[in-house]
Amino acid sequence: MSNCKIIAVANQKGGVGKTTTTVNLGVGLAREGKRVLLVDGDPQGSLTIAMGISNPDALTETIGSAMLAEIGDMELPADYGIISHKEGVDLLPGNIELSGVEVMLVNALSRETVMRNVLHRLKENYDYIIIDCMPSLGLMTINSLVAADGVIISSQPNYLSTKGLNLLLRSISRVRRQINPRLNIDGILFTMVDSRTNNARSIISAMRTTVGDQIRVFGTEIPRSVRAVEASEAGKSIFAHDQHGKVAQAYKALTKEVSNLGRETYRSRSDGAR
Ligand code: ADP
Ligand code: MG
Repeated sequence: MSNCKIIAVANQKGGVGKTTTTVNLGVGLAREGKRVLLVDGDPQGSLTIAMGISNPDALTETIGSAMLAEIGDMELPADYGIISHKEGVDLLPGNIELSGVEVMLVNALSRETVMRNVLHRLKENYDYIIIDCMPSLGLMTINSLVAADGVIISSQPNYLSTKGLNLLLRSISRVRRQINPRLNIDGILFTMVDSRTNNARSIISAMRTTVGDQIRVFGTEIPRSVRAVEASEAGKSIFAHDQHGKVAQAYKALTKEVSNLGRETYRSRSDGAR
């Protein structure tokens, strides 16, 4: 049995820090000695770009083509599509082909489990696989949630962003009821937090009191800083770009929270709870 944990970073809203969190949590875990694979589940290829590949659409081996092979029942080599990043994580890139895959999925057999099958073969090589979900609740995101053991919900602390969370939570419970009962909500992560505004503070504390007893709201909040933008534009993690800055510190703290979750899950499994 592999101890690999698959985490989906999700929110149907764009611009809420999913891609940035995937990169920096992934590199954070790698810096703690974990074997990490990042998967770009967005046809826009933002994660692939943030990992320093400027033209994702030129790639032929991607999560999209791997999913097409899976739909067509073709075997692929274990290292298919995998690119190593110099900061110690691997990437399974994504590009525009994923939007074609989403159309193909509609009529595919077991259309919800294609991504799970693709990633299953890779689990023995990694401690963590982190999927950067696309900003929608369509079949591609459902595939990511079905493949995952845990989901991190990335959100900005503003009214509209938190309002949209209900829809996502509903999709998660449906996936859990119908296909993947193992799926756990690891937590809600607030990103781009502007500490100077009271509005952000009051939204976060309202969230902690309303859902906090059922869903973890990570203690770590990611502050807003232009350093985060610069890092992704340079194809680097925040650790390589501004190691001592507040965003790096926050992602380091998040990494700690997430690796402790892993331990809890592992413990409850060995208790016989599965
Ligand atoms: P998503 O993947 O949810 O669309 P991104 O991670 O791409 O969100 O973030 C959206 C934009 O906000 C990007 O331009 C990114 O560089 C920027 N960004 C992400 N995190 C921060 C942060 N902590 N502070 C400032 N800007 C950020
Ligand atoms: Mg993104």
